[in-house]
Formats: sequence, structure tokens, C-alpha cells
Amino acid sequence: MKIHEYQAKELFKEAGVAVPDGVATSSVEEAVKAAEEMKANGTNLFVVKAQIHAGGRGKGRTKKNNAKGVILCRSIDEVREAAESLLGDTLVTIQTGEEGQEVKTIYVTDGVDIEKEFYLGILLDRANSQNVIMVSTEGGVEIEKVAEETPEKIVKEWVEPGMELFPSQARRLAFALGFEGAAFKKAVKFIMALYNFYVDTDANMVEINPLVLTTDDDVMALDAKVTFDGNALYRHKDIVELRDTSEENPIELEASKFDLNYIKLDGNVGCMVNGAGLAMATMDIIKLSGGEPANFLDVGGGANVETVKNGFRIILDDKNVKAILINIFGGIVRCDRVANGVIEAVKDPEIADKVKNVPIIVRLQGTNAEEAKEIIDNSDLNVISAVLLKEAAEEVSKVLAA
Ligand code: ADP
Ligand code: MG
Repeated sequence: MKIHEYQAKELFKEAGVAVPDGVATSSVEEAVKAAEEMKANGTNLFVVKAQIHAGGRGKGRTKKNNAKGVILCRSIDEVREAAESLLGDTLVTIQTGEEGQEVKTIYVTDGVDIEKEFYLGILLDRANSQNVIMVSTEGGVEIEKVAEETPEKIVKEWVEPGMELFPSQARRLAFALGFEGAAFKKAVKFIMALYNFYVDTDANMVEINPLVLTTDDDVMALDAKVTFDGNALYRHKDIVELRDTSEENPIELEASKFDLNYIKLDGNVGCMVNGAGLAMATMDIIKLSGGEPANFLDVGGGANVETVKNGFRIILDDKNVKAILINIFGGIVRCDRVANGVIEAVKDPEIADKVKNVPIIVRLQGTNAEEAKEIIDNSDLNVISAVLLKEAAEEVSKVLAA
């Protein structure tokens, strides 16, 4: 689960991770009021930042007003202008895709005099089964680019899950970034507090780009990208409340309501599969047969009429879908039951109307597979049966060529 920058920074503050002050709002007047209060406290530089679940805002532009997603302001009037130009407009960044994301909230925050920008990321290193803290002196730049071109500029420390980060490790990281004196101590404290935050909140990833050294020798996070492990959210009621479903893909959201694991892709062959591994293999086979998967969809172990119906609804919501490949392994759930489920689902008037021009290829393997094939072959619906995955793939390419 993703959250907004301003939400991450509020959590950081509670966890003792240094951030500039700021106020999130969806009204121009409140933005101005916040800036006035900040000015009364001695601030002369403000930054107005679009709050969307995507990065690259600083280099992004809004569609209508051509405004940047991160705007430096030197006066209250400039804050007003920035707020007006962002709120309600659609911001396009390299991470949003062409359609962009509507800016519903902005964050008015203290502008910081930056001495130097750094990168800091914490995530699970799957290859080592350990948490990894990565830092780089190349802050403010895309870290993927640094990793590719100058990997030696990324310094890492690993921590065994369940163990704590040693202060000596945080010191090594702060040293690698070139911190000295008072700033060095602040950097060590920052890294320790941030690692504890990552563990305590069951975060998947914490990315600070940039982490900065200010001209006053302070160390703080100017940006904050945090995602949480969905499977651990039941332990964090307060974090669940930060979820902003309006930022999520509507079809994926709908799927999650039915406990279906759906991810939209760009191809034209819809897939309905039980089991994540089989779903991956099915997507590979579709590619081999010349098609492109329109989605990943794992319907889980049950595969009953209801799940199949919901699966169809979700797949068919995507107008690119030209064919649907159902690939179910009947282990606990018998294939004949799945076959009947598919037929019943396709007869549902709402689905029947949508699948008129979308051939369905069904491959059922496992318990009672033969009976299942017979059931499908004897139905008068637009459903093609296959026994082998290869055959199913051939049927898909025939259908696509037709
Ligand atoms: P994004 O990564 O989405 O582009 P950032 O929060 O990293 O957004 O902001 C982009 C750039 O704007 C930063 O690299 C930094 O140079 C500048 N910036 C962001 N927040 C502040 C701030 N509070 N004070 C001064 N500069 C800032
Ligand atoms: Mg950033």
C-alpha cells in the first residue's frame, strides 16, 4: 500500500526522522493561510508540492496550466499562484503515464537551503533474504540510472530480519556520504530512526530522494516515498486509514474487493488462472504464441461460479481484450465443476453480452479433466476447449489471427 509524501512525513516526525514542517490541504485559501503562519515563524522560502502516488513530480508538468509538480515560492502571492495552478489540474510525470494523475491535495512546506542532496533507500534484498540500506552521494537523480552506470556510488549495509541495525553500520553509511561533525551525528540518528520506522511499520520500501544536508548543517528528508506490506496491514490500523483509493487503478481496486489478485497489463489476451506461478507460465505461453497478456489474474484456489463471474467482469472491463484464456489446474477443485462454473458464468446476461465477440479458450487440467472437456465441447457457447497448454496457446493465436 502506498501513501502520500505528506503522510509519510507526518509518520517520520513521530518516529524522530527529521523533515521540514508543512501543511497538506486541498484549498487555495488554506494553502495561503498555512504560508502566512509559516512566514510569521520566520520562513521566507516555501515549496508547494503536488501530492500524487507517483514520483518525478519536480520534472513533471500539469496538463492545463503547464505547472511543475514541485514549485519553489518566495512570497505568499507565489504560493497562491502555485496552489491555483496545481489544484484540480492533472500532473504528468515519467511515473504516471500519459494520462497523469489529478492533483487533489498539495503540501505547503518550508523551503530548505540545500548544501547537498543524497539518496537513501531501505528495502528487502530478496537475493540475500536481508533488509538492505542503500545510500548514494548521487541524490536527486534516478537511482536506477546510478545503479546501472556507476554502481560503485551506491553503498549498502545489510541487516538480518529480526536483528537491529548496529550504530556502527549507520556510521559507516554516514561516513560513505561524506558527513562530518555535527551533521555526521545527525545523519547517524536519521538513519537509525528511519530503519526502526521501516521495521516497526512493516514497510516494504522507504525511499528518500533527496535526503539533504542544509546550509545550516541539518540533515533531513525532503522527499519521502513509503510503501507498506499489504499482508501486515492488519497490525497497523492507523496506517490503513492513510490509504487513498482514488489514487489506485479502479479495476485493480475492484478486484481486491473480491480477493482476486489482478494486475492490468497492456496486451489483448485476458487471462484467468488459479495460482500465481501458473499465471506467470500462462503469460509466457501467450507471448510465445504471439499474443500479449492483457492482465495477470490469479483467482485463487476456489474457482467457483462466483469467482469466475467476477474474474470475467474484471477482465472484460478492459476494452483491449480480444480473447480470454482460462487456465485452471483442478487439484482440490474438480475440473468438471470449474467447466460448469465457466458455462454458467458465460450465460450470465451481463457477461454474455460482453463476450459475444470475445472467444474464450479454456484449458482445464487435473481431476476429471476429460469430463470437463466434454462439458465444454457439448455447450453451444463461444468457448473453445484445450487439453494441453500448447494447444490452448495455438487456439489463442488462431483466434487473434482471425
Ligand atoms: P519528486 O521526486 O517527485 O520530483 P521531490 O520531493 O524529490 O519530488 O522534489 C524535487 C526536488 O525539489 C528535490 O530534489 C529538491 O531539489 C526540491 N525540493 C523538494 N522539496 C524541497 C524543500 N522543502 N525545500 C527545498 N527544495 C525542495
Ligand atoms: Mg524525489
